[in-house]
Amino acid sequence: ELEQYIEEAAGKVVSDRKREKPVEFGRERIALVTGGAGFIGSNLCERLLDEGARVVCLDNFQTGRRSNIVHLEANPRFEVVEHDVIDELPQWFRMRGTKFTHIYHLACAASPPHYQADPEHTMLTNVMGTRNMLRLAEELGARLLLTSTSEVYGDPEVHPQQEDYRGWVSCTGPRACYDEGKRAAETLAFDFLRAGRADVRVARIFNTYGPRMRCDDGRVVSNYICQAIEGADVTIYGDGSQTRSFCYVDDLVEGLCRLMDSESAVGMPVNLGNPNELTVGNLADLVIEMTGSSSRKVHEPLPVDDPRRRKPNIARAQELLGWEPTVELRRGLESAIAWFSQAGNRNIEEDRI
Ligand code: NAD
Ligand code: UDP
Repeated sequence: ELEQYIEEAAGKVVSDRKREKPVEFGRERIALVTGGAGFIGSNLCERLLDEGARVVCLDNFQTGRRSNIVHLEANPRFEVVEHDVIDELPQWFRMRGTKFTHIYHLACAASPPHYQADPEHTMLTNVMGTRNMLRLAEELGARLLLTSTSEVYGDPEVHPQQEDYRGWVSCTGPRACYDEGKRAAETLAFDFLRAGRADVRVARIFNTYGPRMRCDDGRVVSNYICQAIEGADVTIYGDGSQTRSFCYVDDLVEGLCRLMDSESAVGMPVNLGNPNELTVGNLADLVIEMTGSSSRKVHEPLPVDDPRRRKPNIARAQELLGWEPTVELRRGLESAIAWFSQAGNRNIEEDRI
């Protein structure tokens, strides 16, 4: 099957929609996408398939869902494997000997209520899961992209955050399983790189939103949109003055693809996010206005260790990847609202965690 695929794809030059130069993509790209059934992962799988790659999506369906990828399953270049990255890869999977060329390592619940529901699992996903994927990359000579997070900066004292800021993170609080887990994952990635064991790229992703988030995901954009559409109270945690900077998922996926293919952004983390900062209170007003909702705004307690403000400095991505976001917040929200407006996309009963 693999040989047939390589034969079919041989010589095929797939031109990138957004990049200036065509990239030779399909010929040899055999991608493993961990967390591929999740929000960003499913958008990434779709993009990679569009560009001619063969894609194996590996997911334990903790927060991912089949409905995110069901439309890809008819594609002969796409395959789904249910597996937890904490565990050794199943023997049958290894025996197939698929020579992945690229590993996009996204597996990890990203929403605070979900990653805090089983903090031990979150920490181990980041440490054991990342080690397992780095070892696979080492064994196959594949390049691995780790999706780290702006959470490595914790509740930042430096604003905007640039990559050389070392962060202000609590190692004992409820967010630590994720923040410290991701910091440890970065440590492992750079140790493998320094030792010449694996070729790695590290993205620090800032708040991203768009189609295929879950209505019960718990993050602010999906919460506000679903609450507004359903006429439920829009829940602002704290006084709403804390800030975030929201990146539309297509922009983010473009940044991940460029970073994976970069020959210069090596040995360093790269911030990927949209520097357009606003308060979550303002975001609530915008969503209510755009949905024409009659929802009331209510205030709920601010979660422990909730960062006060967050905004990426993206100079490194601009310079080394020629990347910056192109989707303005209103336009991205329109598209997310349109997606959530279809009742089926808000259905959380069907594939709840
Ligand atoms: P998501 O929760 O929608 O997706 C995570 C996916 O990983 C899900 O499909 C889940 O089932 C899977 N998963 C979790 N633990 C696993 C395990 N142990 N083994 C196998 N699969 C597992 O989240 P997302 O927003 O798509 O985030 C994807 C990645 O990007 C995560 O690593 C996250 O930390 C990172 N990230 C996301 C954001 C954001 O704003 N969305 C910001 C920073 C970093
Ligand atoms: N938030 C909110 N209402 C919600 C969900 C989140 O006000 O219904 C706030 C949350 O306290 C935080 C911000 O929105 O200040 C972003 O939260 P999210 O969970 O989306 O991302 P993160 O905190 O990881 O940046």
